[in-house]
Amino acid sequence: LAKEFGRNRVAFYDPSIDAARSERTTLADKLREAIKADQLAVVYQPIFEAGSMRPTGVEALVRWLHPEVGLVPPDIFVPIAEESGLIDQIGAFVIGRACRDALEWPGVRLSVNVSAVQFRNPKFDVVLANMLGEIGFPTERLEIEMTETHLVANPERAQAIIANLRARGVTIALDDFGTGYSSIGYLRRFAFDKLKLDRSLVVGITSDEAARELCEATIALARALDLRVTAEGVETEGEAVLLRQAGCDYLQGYAFARPMTAEAVGSFLLSTVPTAVALPWTG
Ligand code: C2E
Ligand code: MG
Ligand code: MG
Ligand code: MG
Repeated sequence: LAKEFGRNRVAFYDPSIDAARSERTTLADKLREAIKADQLAVVYQPIFEAGSMRPTGVEALVRWLHPEVGLVPPDIFVPIAEESGLIDQIGAFVIGRACRDALEWPGVRLSVNVSAVQFRNPKFDVVLANMLGEIGFPTERLEIEMTETHLVANPERAQAIIANLRARGVTIALDDFGTGYSSIGYLRRFAFDKLKLDRSLVVGITSDEAARELCEATIALARALDLRVTAEGVETEGEAVLLRQAGCDYLQGYAFARPMTAEAVGSFLLSTVPTAVALPWTG
């Protein structure tokens, strides 16, 4: 750790670091127990085709249902799972559960978030293909959502895995675009199918002209590179109108649907476009 602060600096001993570390161990232990006790669950947030406002896909999102604490969000336990080596097990659980659930939703695209740590396994694509084969889930219906962390850590491996997955028919979305470096170079170097605009690029577009222009420019950039674009974190109808006009292909957010259980997805997909989603431009 001292090394990270550079050679000309003195690293002071900080007892809170030890405290933080032992808390992490405890959480990792609890997470390990949670996996055994079957306390992980997967919920699904619908993704809408912007033109028709029909739900054409769902994104699988992992949840930890803690008996005392309640719902622990992934932002808290996924980093711990990554550090403690539990992410492979959790990742396999999510893919397995999500694909089995999604077998009930014919024609609907299934998006799964994959951690950069899972990409450390050079056979990730093969393991995934075997799982899909066992479950009988069509590879063309699966989309992998990855972040630029995957590309920074080991670009060659990431490139190879992306190519192999795409050769099998799996599509690849770059998640959280607009946070981090969001390098245009990545967009050219790696063969993505889709770009997911981070919520931070969407927030404020109806009130702040600069925010709107940045968002529109990013969508135009993605389209120029022949990528499909999903906007995430769409919370209002006004945002949806702008995003659709700017050329977004897909919309996702609380304005249309929140993450829901597999049972709820089944009935949600059966119902036609709900009235809350019947936006002014439809028809
Ligand atoms: P993400 O993949 O970018 O997912 C979008 C997050 O935004 C989700 O939070 C979703 O519930 C939330 N969201 C959706 N619509 C809205 C909206 O309109 N407004 C706001 N404020 N938020 C919205 P969630 O489920 O807590 O997941 C957080 C992150 O945890 C995900 O970000 C993803 O990076 C990670 N994650 C979730 N599930 C998995 C998983 O199975 N594996 C891995 N490796 N990471 C996961
Ligand atoms: Mg995602
Ligand atoms: Mg995201
Ligand atoms: Mg995220």
